[in-house]
Amino acid sequence: MWIGYLVFGLLSIGVYYALPIFVGTVPLRVIVYCAVSLSAVIAVWWGVRRNRPEPRSPWVVLGLSQVVYVLADSTFYVSHYVLNETSYPSVADAFYIGHYPLVVVGLVMLIRQRRSDRDLPGLLDAVSLTVVAGLLSWVFVIGPQTRLGTPLLVEMASLAYPLMDLVLLLVSLRLLFDGGRREGSFVLLVLWLTAILTADTVYVLQRLAHSYEAGNFLDAIWLTGNLALGACALHPSMGRMAQAVDVPALRLSWPRLAILSTGALIGPVVLLVQHAQGVRRDVPVIAAGCAVLFALTATRLAGLAVDQRSLAITDSLTRLRSRRYFEAQLADEVARARRTNCPLGVVILDVDRFKSINDRFGHPAGDRVLVEVATRLRAVAGADRVLARYGGEEFALIATGADAENLHRLAERLRHGVSHHPIAVSGRRSVTVTLSAGTAAFAPHYGTASALVSAADRALYLAKDLGRDRAVAGGTSLTEHREDVAVDYLNQVADLVDLRVASPGRSLAIADWARTMAEHLKRDPGEIRTAHRAGRLLDVGMIVLPDDLLTESGPLTDQQWHLLYEHPDSGARMVGVLPDHGDVAEVIRQHHERWDGAGYPVGLTRDSIRVEARILSVCDSWAAMRADRPHRRALTHEQAVRELTSGRGARFDPELVDVFLELLEKRVVGDLTAGPAAGSAAVWEDSRLS
Ligand code: GH3
Ligand code: MG
Ligand code: MG
Repeated sequence: MWIGYLVFGLLSIGVYYALPIFVGTVPLRVIVYCAVSLSAVIAVWWGVRRNRPEPRSPWVVLGLSQVVYVLADSTFYVSHYVLNETSYPSVADAFYIGHYPLVVVGLVMLIRQRRSDRDLPGLLDAVSLTVVAGLLSWVFVIGPQTRLGTPLLVEMASLAYPLMDLVLLLVSLRLLFDGGRREGSFVLLVLWLTAILTADTVYVLQRLAHSYEAGNFLDAIWLTGNLALGACALHPSMGRMAQAVDVPALRLSWPRLAILSTGALIGPVVLLVQHAQGVRRDVPVIAAGCAVLFALTATRLAGLAVDQRSLAITDSLTRLRSRRYFEAQLADEVARARRTNCPLGVVILDVDRFKSINDRFGHPAGDRVLVEVATRLRAVAGADRVLARYGGEEFALIATGADAENLHRLAERLRHGVSHHPIAVSGRRSVTVTLSAGTAAFAPHYGTASALVSAADRALYLAKDLGRDRAVAGGTSLTEHREDVAVDYLNQVADLVDLRVASPGRSLAIADWARTMAEHLKRDPGEIRTAHRAGRLLDVGMIVLPDDLLTESGPLTDQQWHLLYEHPDSGARMVGVLPDHGDVAEVIRQHHERWDGAGYPVGLTRDSIRVEARILSVCDSWAAMRADRPHRRALTHEQAVRELTSGRGARFDPELVDVFLELLEKRVVGDLTAGPAAGSAAVWEDSRLS
């Protein structure tokens, strides 16, 4: 239909020029002219009914603009040919000028539908080129017009046309640059606008040169423009023209760059031409135009730089911050925390068993889950906190102002925010996603951002080892001094050993019982502290033992015994390097000595063994008997009590066995699953022995 309409319309234009103006008394050319303009109104009305554009309003307004245009045409040609009335401006000019705002409004409505965002770059480019056109218009049209000294009304009309054209140009360029759909209908629309702008420009120039004659070639351009509008409305793609499309963020195509750069040269070129002709006119206007262009170009470039940066610091899948941004930001925050003493922490979260989601539902579904996890984390974290995608399915958060306790609560809220209801994956299937989290609170004088992250990372690993779906606090806040870093490190070695012997929290429990016993025995504070510390670090020497030795179920070989005998010495050497830890190291060295002298590594007896070591020997044995090991089940409470009792005076100091059993009765020692030994977040927190 649109092709038929165009062909028929173009033939009518041919007829228009072929016909004499009057046939008899009938002004036939006027009728043909107005019929073609009117046909565009009918075509728009028909197109709206047929193509059902959504929304209709832009097309209604554009159709209305054409109605006004038809009124203008009929008034002009009737007064010109029939009434021989050629005064300028006339009523027709009021209609012509009045139709522009309607076109502009219609186009703006269309543009707003086609772009969901503000598209500042497109707007800036359109403004830049309009400034260029405005500059030319001023030099060649508006300026000369104002210098003619014509009557006010004539001058106003003559200025209104080029000004309206500039506004129309601005909107047309905006439409052209909007990156939306460009189907047949769009092309015809652009053709219509091009025809209006071209014919108008020539018209104004001809008026200025007094060379305009009604019915000259310009009519063909205006009429073709009308036909293009009609065909545009009839084109089947018209219904889709206002649909928004996703436009990639970064776009500055080479053609557009070339057009913009050429445009920016217009001021200097005009000045050069004027210089060559020996005239100098409109210099302030040209200078102002160049300044505006420069400002627009600078803004545009700044926008590109901002876009580039935002692309570089944004994770493309989840739209969270990138790891690079997180690291840069954390370094700044750490420096600030050191200056201001303000609390600071990080939370690192990792999706539990994410690989299985990929395996079950496919990688794209995995991606959707990641996006949803990110959205939920963002909702809990709030817009202001730095939340980054730290790795594949790992996320990291900077928590400024959060101390260790707040940090743990925050981590739990984040985890709950993700796991509280299932995430839809494909079709009606959904999965509940849990996260493990590691947190670390920064303390003043503490090293670097990367050390803080490492602490949170280690805590995250511990959370995974402890069974996932939990948050564990990393211990960096105790590391105020160099020794503390070392103590912290050895504590972590102790935790690792506990995990390797499948008894998380064991060393914490032993330390706790040893302190309780020493206190009960009213030992001096130094001994109490030594017993506690040695308990915590009792088996760090076992870190060097091979896995098969720790999980061995059968009898050990001589070589394995030899290795095992060495662990009190190794531990003592590791701990002995710490300042003021000589006593602790000595106690660790002695914790496998026996009351009867049959222990190792030296074979000390009775009181020659330090009391802390004798206490620890009882506690360590109890912990070993009461925990499941890879090769055997734990002894029952009664069996273990019997074992202890039978070791009185042989393996153990008899008095200390009695004390332990007494405290056991009161339930203040001996429970491996209670308190900090429960193997949760508290494990790491309480490991701050210093
Ligand atoms: P764990 O509980 O120990 O963390 O188990 P996990 O399976 O989550 O851990 P692992 O690190 O072994 O596996 C992470 C998986 O995440 C492996 C990788 O295929 C997947 N992954 C990483 N990045 C993406 C991504 O962008 N999209 C998808 N769909 N999968 C990803
Ligand atoms: Mg994971
Ligand atoms: Mg992972």
